[in-house]
Amino acid sequence: MRRAPLLLAALAACAPNPAAPVKVMAVVPASSGAYGPREVDLTTVDSITALRGKVATLLGGAKIVLDPADPLLAQNGGNPTEEQYIAILLKDQGGSVRANYVSKKNDKDQPVLWPADFHSWNMVTLYFNFEQAFSYFQQVFDGRSTAELENPKVLYWATFLDRSSGTEVEVKDNALFFSPVKSFLVVPFDQLQKVPLAMNTGVIGHEYAHLVFSKKVFSGAAIPAPIASWSLEPFNVLKSIDEGFSDFHGWGLTCAALGPGCRPAFLSESLGEVEGAKRDISLPTKCMTAELRNAINTLQQPQFLSGNQYQLGTLFAASMYQAAQKTGKVQVMQRALVASYDDDAPATPGFKQIINLNLQTQANFTLERAANTVVAHVTDPDLKRVLCNEFSDRLQLDCVAFPCDTMPDCPATSSKGTSCPVLPPENP
Ligand SMILES: [Zn+2]
Repeated sequence: MRRAPLLLAALAACAPNPAAPVKVMAVVPASSGAYGPREVDLTTVDSITALRGKVATLLGGAKIVLDPADPLLAQNGGNPTEEQYIAILLKDQGGSVRANYVSKKNDKDQPVLWPADFHSWNMVTLYFNFEQAFSYFQQVFDGRSTAELENPKVLYWATFLDRSSGTEVEVKDNALFFSPVKSFLVVPFDQLQKVPLAMNTGVIGHEYAHLVFSKKVFSGAAIPAPIASWSLEPFNVLKSIDEGFSDFHGWGLTCAALGPGCRPAFLSESLGEVEGAKRDISLPTKCMTAELRNAINTLQQPQFLSGNQYQLGTLFAASMYQAAQKTGKVQVMQRALVASYDDDAPATPGFKQIINLNLQTQANFTLERAANTVVAHVTDPDLKRVLCNEFSDRLQLDCVAFPCDTMPDCPATSSKGTSCPVLPPENP
C-alpha cells in the first residue's frame, strides 16, 4: 500500500503548532494572475500541522477502490447499506497528515510559518482555499445556518483505483468531491504541469459547491436515489446542473477570494487555455447545439458523462452569469441559486422537493423544469425577467414566447434572447 511521503517525513521535526489565527505563507495568485507565496491568516485551524479545523480535515494515505466485482458488494443480500458501501469503497480511510514549517519573522516582526516542502505548501494552500470557500458560502447562505457544511474530510494524495471498466486505472490529476465516500479527494499528478488543482481557488470553489449541492439537494446521500435510478434527459439534466451550478460558484469564489479578482476561465490556470475556454461561463457564444440536445435526449448515463454534463452545465452557468452581469445583481443571483436547492414552500418547491416528488415520475424533470426552479427563487423582478431571456435563448427551451406553460415563473415581460442561433425543431 502506498502512503503519502509526507506522513513518513515528519516524525523527526518538532514543528510549531500555534492556535488560530495563524500567520502562514500560502500560494495565492497575484494581481498579474501569477501564483506565488503570500502571507495569509488561517482563522479556523485547530491544528496547523495536521491541517484540521472547522472547514476541512486533511487525511493522508487513504485508498479507494471502485470495483463492481468486489465480493463485499454481496453484503446485505447484494444491497449493502450506505455505511457498508462506504466501507467497501474506502479500503484505507487514511490518517492525519503532517505539514512542516519553518518559523520566520515578517516585516512587522510577527512570526509567520513558511511551509518547508511541496506537500506542506500544497496542503496549507488547500486549507486556505477551503476557508475562502466556506466564507463565500456563508455570504451566499445569507444568514442561514452553514453548520451542515462543517468538518468535511479531504482525502489528500489519495490512491484511487477504478476497476469499473474491467481493467484497473489509477485516477490521477484530479480534485473532486466524491459523494460515494462523502469526502473530497485530491489525487496525485501525472500529466498536469501547471497550477496544482489544490491551489486553484476556482477549482476548490467548484468542488465545494458540489458539497453544498449534495447536502441541500440530496441530504448528503452517498448515492442519491435519482442518480441510481433515473436515465436519459432527467438524469442528464440533473448531473449537468450540479456541474454548471458548481462552475457558477467557482467563478463566484474567484471574485470573492484573495487574488486578482473574477476569473471565469479559472480552469485554464491548471488545465490550459483550451479546457479553460470550454467552461468559461463568461463567453457570450455559449449556446445549445443540435449535437448536445441530441445527447441529452438519447445518451445513457456513462455515455452522457463523457463531457456532455460540463457542456450543458456551462449553458446554465452562462445564462446566470449573463443575467447577473446585465443587471448588476451577482450576489442576488448567487443567493437565489442556493435558495433553489431546498425550499419546502409549496408555491416555490426547491430541487430537493421536486426531485423527491418525481422519483417515480422522472419525465417531469426536464430542462424547462430545472431552469424554472432557479427562476422561481429569484426575487428581483429585473433579474428574473433577464434570466428567463437568457435561459430560453442559451438552452433553446420550448418557451419562445411568454407567458409560457413550462416556465410558469417567468414574467410576461420576458422575451427570448437573441445571442444564440435558433436550432431546427427537434422532431421535424
Ligand atoms: Zn464538478
